[in-house]
Amino acid sequence: MADLLPYGRQSIVEDDVAAVAAVLRGDWLTTGPAVTRFESDLAGWTGGVPVVAVTSGTAALHVAYAASGIGPGDEVVCSPMTFVATAATAVLRGASVVFADVSPDTGNVSAASVSSALTPRTRVVAAVDYAGHPAPLDALVPVAHDAGALLLEDAAHSIGGSWQGRPVGSWADLTTFSFFPTKNLTTAEGGAVACVDPSLLRRAQEFRNHGLVRSRDRQRFPDEGGWHQEVHEFGLNYRLPDVLCALGSSQLKRLASFVARRATLHARYTAGLSDVDGVATPARLPGAEPAWHLYPLRVLGGRRRELYSFLRENGIGVQVNYVPVYWHPVFADLGYKRGLCPNAERFYAAELSLPLFPDLADSDVDRVIDLIRAFCT
Ligand SMILES: *Cc1c(COP(=O)(O)O)cnc(C)c1O
Repeated sequence: MADLLPYGRQSIVEDDVAAVAAVLRGDWLTTGPAVTRFESDLAGWTGGVPVVAVTSGTAALHVAYAASGIGPGDEVVCSPMTFVATAATAVLRGASVVFADVSPDTGNVSAASVSSALTPRTRVVAAVDYAGHPAPLDALVPVAHDAGALLLEDAAHSIGGSWQGRPVGSWADLTTFSFFPTKNLTTAEGGAVACVDPSLLRRAQEFRNHGLVRSRDRQRFPDEGGWHQEVHEFGLNYRLPDVLCALGSSQLKRLASFVARRATLHARYTAGLSDVDGVATPARLPGAEPAWHLYPLRVLGGRRRELYSFLRENGIGVQVNYVPVYWHPVFADLGYKRGLCPNAERFYAAELSLPLFPDLADSDVDRVIDLIRAFCT
């Protein structure tokens, strides 16, 4: 099928190309000054909370769970309305995942659903800012902390958004970002973790780099020699290279305009579809300043599959985000049953993500609206 309008794509300009080329001509390809600069540029979006750049949003989640110290016997309360990585990386640490159902309006976990999923073993609460609409962070922070758990916010969709006037990245103990091409900015592959607590930050930095401890005052054998570095806890190589960090810093200069353009397109869809019987437009709660990554339309009357096929046949690359995580066979094989989170399952059954990205034309939005209106009459 030629020329399928994608549901998401990157926006790259000549400044981005020049930023990458400049690094390629310099001395550092990997861990050099562009990493430090990208991390400090990112902290400009998290209200100053320090950030560790890593190789993907998945790596960011793995690093965040590693920094939290979870392992076998520990539980992570997690939203099922997310990409599998939010839960998979906790399982890879040996922890168990307990799914908390989502609110039917936003697809985000609520304080009440998280509360009912807590046990004495809960160490982390993992919320997702679904579609770019922040989770109810003011309520989730005390629920997690009162249970002795950390709040992890998977903000793969929501960098540039805010909740009650405070930016995403400044609320949770650990906030993770993804810079995959469809996300709100891109480094091709890339991600980051924002860490409020300095000791979590240090653990995140070390896990990203094999667990290597370089500062002599923390080494067990500090007199070994100037070359010496030692591993106290296992880590991985999740270092985001200078080449990609330069792209990230260049993209961040346009993040505010990306967020604004996405909001304009989002509002255009809502204006064109809110009076249509047979679909429900996305909710926005008071206090939310979303950074809309997705336009999650809900198709009523069991017609989602039909509308998906109709739009695809007409060249519109719609997507479905997401199958409830525990429906993946890997979770089913661990004993998770369908029916566990009824709101998430109903949300999934109706959800259809319409194309949304900064370079999408108003006329493309109008074409999608016209097709949906024709389908629904
Ligand atoms: C994209 C995404 C991830 C994973 O990010 P990658 O950069 O693709 O590894 C994790 N969680 C959510 C909610 C995502 O949308």
